[in-house]
Amino acid sequence: MRTIGLIGGMSWESSAEYYRLLNELTREHRGGLHSAKCVLYSVDFAEIERLQVEGRWAEAARILADAARSVEAAGADLVLICTNTMHKVADEVAAAVSVPLLHLADATAQAVTAAGLATVGLLGTAFTMEQDFYRGRLAGHGLEVLVPDQDHRSLVHRVIYEELCLGVIREESRAAYQRVIDGLAARGAEGVILGCTEIELLIRPQDSPIPVFPTTRLHAAAAISAALEE
Ligand code: GLU
Repeated sequence: MRTIGLIGGMSWESSAEYYRLLNELTREHRGGLHSAKCVLYSVDFAEIERLQVEGRWAEAARILADAARSVEAAGADLVLICTNTMHKVADEVAAAVSVPLLHLADATAQAVTAAGLATVGLLGTAFTMEQDFYRGRLAGHGLEVLVPDQDHRSLVHRVIYEELCLGVIREESRAAYQRVIDGLAARGAEGVILGCTEIELLIRPQDSPIPVFPTTRLHAAAAISAALEE
């Protein structure tokens, strides 16, 4: 079994999900007392969030590249960045290590394609919904990506930072997200990517009229496939 290196803490609410999923999936595959070999470097999210807001991505990249080197030194055979948003600096992180970085957008796009869908909605932070680093990567897999309008993007972004990253799950926010998903479905989205690792704490498959693609679960599953590959 290979050792999975996690760069987490962004936020730790979703990193805890990664840890649980990696172990549950390993038990499903291997049975008995088997659990995932992994090492976690968990950052202080307040420092990263500040760099995001101030557009200081190069400094954020240095912090995550250092974290990647740490997990590699601790024995990681592959590395995951446990947030969609920080894939903005995925190239810098990948360049810092000699082991592979398992890109979250690739794992997600493969799941969407395997489900036979071509047009998907994308929910995430404003960075993820509005910038090319993530949408472009999905488009590179042949997907057409729809994002909510400006008001809905602001709502989705605000709920992530003011609620979900703080462990707050509100019924009103679930209903608001459902309205956003309804809007995407009406515009032709055949499925919706929960492109922020905390959204699946709020939106479950039964909350959506179209299939959901939960990125934490998909990323963890891709990591386990790679880690358990013979
Ligand atoms: N976990 C979130 C994501 O997947 C947002 C937190 C962050 O800004 O990294 O994008």
